[in-house]
Amino acid sequence: MLRVAVVGSGPSGCYTAQGLVQQDPSVCVDVLDRLPCPYGLVRYGVAPDHEKIKSLQNNLRTVLEHERVRFLGGVQVGGPGGLPVGRLRELYHAVVYCVGAATDRHLQIPGEDLPGSWSATEFVSWYSAHPDAVDDGFVRGARSAVVIGVGNVAVDVTRMLARGAAELSRTDMPEGALASLAASRVTEIHMVGRRGPSQARFTTKELRELGALPDTDVVVDPEELALDPAFTDPSALPAAQRRNIEVLRGWAAAPAKGGARRIRLRFFLRPAELLAADGRVGAVRLERTVPDGHGGVTGTGRYEDIAAQLVLRSVGYRGVPLDGLPFDAGTGTVPHRGGRVLRDGAVAPGEYVAGWIKRGPTGVIGTNRPCAKETVTSLLADAPALVRAQVPDDSVPALRAEGVEPVEWAGWQAIERVEAALGASLGRGAVKLPDWESLRAAARSGAP
Ligand code: NAP
Repeated sequence: MLRVAVVGSGPSGCYTAQGLVQQDPSVCVDVLDRLPCPYGLVRYGVAPDHEKIKSLQNNLRTVLEHERVRFLGGVQVGGPGGLPVGRLRELYHAVVYCVGAATDRHLQIPGEDLPGSWSATEFVSWYSAHPDAVDDGFVRGARSAVVIGVGNVAVDVTRMLARGAAELSRTDMPEGALASLAASRVTEIHMVGRRGPSQARFTTKELRELGALPDTDVVVDPEELALDPAFTDPSALPAAQRRNIEVLRGWAAAPAKGGARRIRLRFFLRPAELLAADGRVGAVRLERTVPDGHGGVTGTGRYEDIAAQLVLRSVGYRGVPLDGLPFDAGTGTVPHRGGRVLRDGAVAPGEYVAGWIKRGPTGVIGTNRPCAKETVTSLLADAPALVRAQVPDDSVPALRAEGVEPVEWAGWQAIERVEAALGASLGRGAVKLPDWESLRAAARSGAP
């Protein structure tokens, strides 16, 4: 058997495991995850109200329940206290790193770290019950929020801020976040792009959802939109951007519904500074930009301040280096050729990457399929040489000897049962456990 470890149980890890076992009957895969729960960003990144995308978990479950695939949660690879990359390499014929892009990009402007200013990833982690998330009363005392960036994550956090309690309680959001958002007094949400509407990164389906939120008006300024030449004449735009423009035009022409909340989509404004009020963020200072004719923008020296007691910086994710693996700090990815890790420009036999740590934080979940396929093809082509190495038949005893007690599938199923029971006791569907202690206790209750 060819024994492969896949590090990371998100979509790229699961698609990699699936490709390996489907294409070669002599492959066994252990899918390792730092968390006791599988599914990566599908569990901890996809917005709770996106039930359809969340249901992808059922497909990923099928992969992890395959007879030659095993889930091993609670196994940290690299980092303080983690299993060193070099040691993991000794336990398997090959290792595929599918560790995603775990941190957020920074704006590098004054005031960015004021209390009340958060990365969107911190906010997403909190309402998704990630056990490392901090609850710092994101919306407490806030009436106006600024979301910086116009990608799909910005749309997600904007929508979550505008959702009412009734809609949120139908989700698997943890009780603390639900209570906080249900009590939120945020009524003005400004989502701000530094370039024009034709250059926004959100997809039309996600954009349209903002217009369907109950009791919420979407406000756009036709004059601001028209600063973008492609807004006035979208004929040369690719279809996806043209559809975005159509949606924005519809909103520009529609009368206000008089909802309790307003989402204001703003463009050609780049963040210059976060301004403090009483030791917290009080406003965002933005510089008006104009198109430079080459897809970028230039500043005009004119500024606008938008009052905000909550700022969510949603300007993209970034890969994090893993001790013992090469890393390109410029791109935030691991250098590779066709998924094979490159060390000093040469292929490192037996080490592979897939997903965001391979190609950067772009694309939708499905983009991970072809990405994983390329890596699987490379790995299986190398298999005849890799399989000659001596590795243990079962890595779990070796992991235990290193002080790691993996959470196996039964442990994860126990977590699912506890979350279902918690939800039932609250009159809701399954409700996620938000902290390490309760996740570990639930996993232990399923131990054989
Ligand atoms: P993204 O799509 O790369 O968008 C980042 C946004 O931040 C862009 O508008 C970008 O503007 C802006 N930005 C970057 N640096 C900035 C700066 N210094 N100042 C101001 N604005 C700045 O990233 P994302 O929203 O985090 O999404 C990551 C990936 O996940 C995407 O592929 C996305 O489609 C996917 N995703 C999908 C869904 C879904 O399908 N429902 C949900 C969530 C995420 P510029 O364009 O000017 O750089």
